[in-house]
Amino acid sequence: MRIAVLRIGHRLVRDDRVTTHAALVSRAFGAERIYMTGIDQSVKETVASVGKRWGGGFAVEIVDSWKEVARGWKKSGGKIAHLTMYGVNVDDAIEQVRKEESILVIIGAEKVPREAYDMADYNIAVGNQPHSEIAALAVFLDRLHGGRQLRKEFAGGRMRVVPMEKGKKVETL
Ligand code: SAM
Repeated sequence: MRIAVLRIGHRLVRDDRVTTHAALVSRAFGAERIYMTGIDQSVKETVASVGKRWGGGFAVEIVDSWKEVARGWKKSGGKIAHLTMYGVNVDDAIEQVRKEESILVIIGAEKVPREAYDMADYNIAVGNQPHSEIAALAVFLDRLHGGRQLRKEFAGGRMRVVPMEKGKKVETL
């Protein structure tokens, strides 16, 4: 399945760390790219340097219009899953979403325009309490992959963790 993330909005008062985390969670939890509006080039560079060290082909794309990305995705036959506390419970929707060939996951950094709810094929809640787009994204992608993404190998990196119960070991490839 092809999975991309589209983050709508950017809060200037928030630090770039939150933005970087949205990208890193997308990458680590099995998305192939994240589209973001109004972000600093430095976020893209940080995520690219993680990719160089740890592998994978994840991309950050800075876009002017979220609507163009969403429209283009639908035009090419893809479906949209918008994560919102007002949607249907993730566990009631996930089986259907798993049948799709490509999914664009929309998350909001701030209030999401009504149009996103209307364009979405699925409006999905990770519980109906307000929390965080990063937590919602992680839980949604984990459910979508049934946990398997946590064992995924990221090809082409310079480093690899050697898992162990105590201590830290990193192999240079
Ligand atoms: N009122 C918002 C909403 O529609 O979910 C909460 C805003 S929250 C600051 C920013 C983003 O976090 C939302 O746009 C949504 O993508 C995500 N989010 C927060 N709580 C969520 C939940 N319970 N389920 C799914 N997504 C959630």
